[in-house]
Amino acid sequence: MMDAIPYGRQHITQEDIDTVVEALQADFLTQGPRIKEFEENFADYVGSKYAVAVSNGTAALHLSVMALGLQPGDRVITTPITFAASSNCVRYCQGELYYADIDPETYTISLESVKALLDAHPKGYFKGIVPVDFAGYPVDLEALRIMADQHDLWILEDSCHAPGGYFVDSNNIKQYCGGNDYMDAAIFSFHPVKHIAAGEGGMITTNSEEIYQKLLILRTHGITKEELHYDIPFPEEQGSWYYEMKELGYNYRITDFQAALGNSQLKRADQGITRRQEIANRYYEAFAGDKGIRCQKRKDQAFNAHHLFVIEVEDRKGLYDFLRAHHIFSQVHYIPVYLLPYYKRIGYEPGLCPNAEKYYRHCLSLPMYPTLTQQEQEHVISCVKEFING
Ligand SMILES: *Cc1c(COP(=O)(O)O)cnc(C)c1O
Repeated sequence: MMDAIPYGRQHITQEDIDTVVEALQADFLTQGPRIKEFEENFADYVGSKYAVAVSNGTAALHLSVMALGLQPGDRVITTPITFAASSNCVRYCQGELYYADIDPETYTISLESVKALLDAHPKGYFKGIVPVDFAGYPVDLEALRIMADQHDLWILEDSCHAPGGYFVDSNNIKQYCGGNDYMDAAIFSFHPVKHIAAGEGGMITTNSEEIYQKLLILRTHGITKEELHYDIPFPEEQGSWYYEMKELGYNYRITDFQAALGNSQLKRADQGITRRQEIANRYYEAFAGDKGIRCQKRKDQAFNAHHLFVIEVEDRKGLYDFLRAHHIFSQVHYIPVYLLPYYKRIGYEPGLCPNAEKYYRHCLSLPMYPTLTQQEQEHVISCVKEFING
């Protein structure tokens, strides 16, 4: 019998282990040289000017909205089909969330729905938008930027699912998730189930030096030992012990040995993306003739990094249970965020985003990770087909 097949899993090689052991034997466990190296390599990988590594993706979201200037009462638009953290970061700063519905084909935020929200309110009503490259599918940030500029909104791209994903813009240029000029900042997670595992870890990328500088001090209590060029100079005649706390920051640092693991994993990121494409292609091919199975839409100008492979079926619970009985652990991504009890308690109600709610009734994420073998994938495919077609 086959081992259990999860929907996603990390891949740790001997080289990863050696790299971490080496970091543990070095001088710095926390703020060491591997963090800067990881930041530089990651910025290179997605094509951004700056990158700041933090303790996890949620911390990356929180610091980003702070650096973007979110104030209590500020209104932010986002998608309900995402992990709760994409919304929670706004609540950490006492902001208000408005949910745009999803596109029923790509499952990412619907630009028409965003436009409807913007059109229904005066300019200045909203402060920002958090699009999510859901499942690895890149949001068209070129189109979103035009709307954002008309309303003076910042864009925080949640790219947790999409390192290596890109869309092709109207000038025929590949715009990588987290590395494009349309967003103000983007965030990534290095939770083991994501493309690049660091145990826990996160990254913020940006092309703005100002946002970068703010993030650096917010990550470490808002404290700095360096005079900031944009701020009041330090008083004269202070010793080298002197530091100032400029903002109410946090301790959201990553450790040097986690950065070592991230660095080592990043070297194999392209290989992982290639394998994910092969797996996705096989699923698309296998399900092409099945009327009872709908896959996330593919479009030429969007390169899906495929953190997930999502299908929609009529009897989702039935398929989920059937797969479980065959040791295949599929998963549901996601319950619409505003239907979670906390959000209901603060006033959100069912019916807000009909496409998202319909999607949630039918969606299922099939196994998708680079070490999924061909034999395992064929087993998944035949079980899905058996359930759907009898
Ligand atoms: C995983 C994830 C996060 C949070 O990342 P953590 O590292 O687990 O804090 C945020 N947004 C999305 C879309 C995610 O998938």
